Amino acid sequence: MPSTIAEKVRPHLHLPDVQIAALLGLTLKAVGNARRSLLPNIRAGWTAEAKTWIIAQGKAGVSPMLLVAPLHEKFGITKTPNALIGMLYRAGVSVRFGRAGKRATSPRAPTSSPTPPASGTRLRSIYQLESNHCRWPIGDVGSKDFGFCPATSMSGRPYCEVHNAHAYQSPQPRRQAPNPQQEAA
Ligand SMILES: [Zn+2]
Repeated sequence: MPSTIAEKVRPHLHLPDVQIAALLGLTLKAVGNARRSLLPNIRAGWTAEAKTWIIAQGKAGVSPMLLVAPLHEKFGITKTPNALIGMLYRAGVSVRFGRAGKRATSPRAPTSSPTPPASGTRLRSIYQLESNHCRWPIGDVGSKDFGFCPATSMSGRPYCEVHNAHAYQSPQPRRQAPNPQQEAA
């Protein structure tokens, strides 16, 4: 990857990948690659404390996308949403974006998602949506916190990489340790 992308991403490393992607008009993958190139120790981050916290959040139904910033703030650990999803799967936590027990099985399913937006993650209003923006709704429709995922959608898809993987995932994880990158393909 051209180092210029990494240089563009560098000043925004404290933000979640989705926000950086929206800000710079990059794909989540490009942001993730840039982050890895800037922080070579990204894979060596987990501590038992951080893992326990993430698993508790995942069990409570908090979207991994919204855990990236607090993980960084609380524990100084930088992970991509996909890395969090992978870790939760390996820990046996079924990652949900929707209501408990009601999983998204088709791209039209996620009409309401009670996942609260994390502070610092700015969601888009419906009036701000453009053709290349992720259509994943977050929060309860009508509430003041309701909005759409701030990431850029994958080309030809209504959702970003993370939400595309969730919209099209089967109800049960099929493999013991599925790789979210492959799920998204
Ligand atoms: Zn999204």
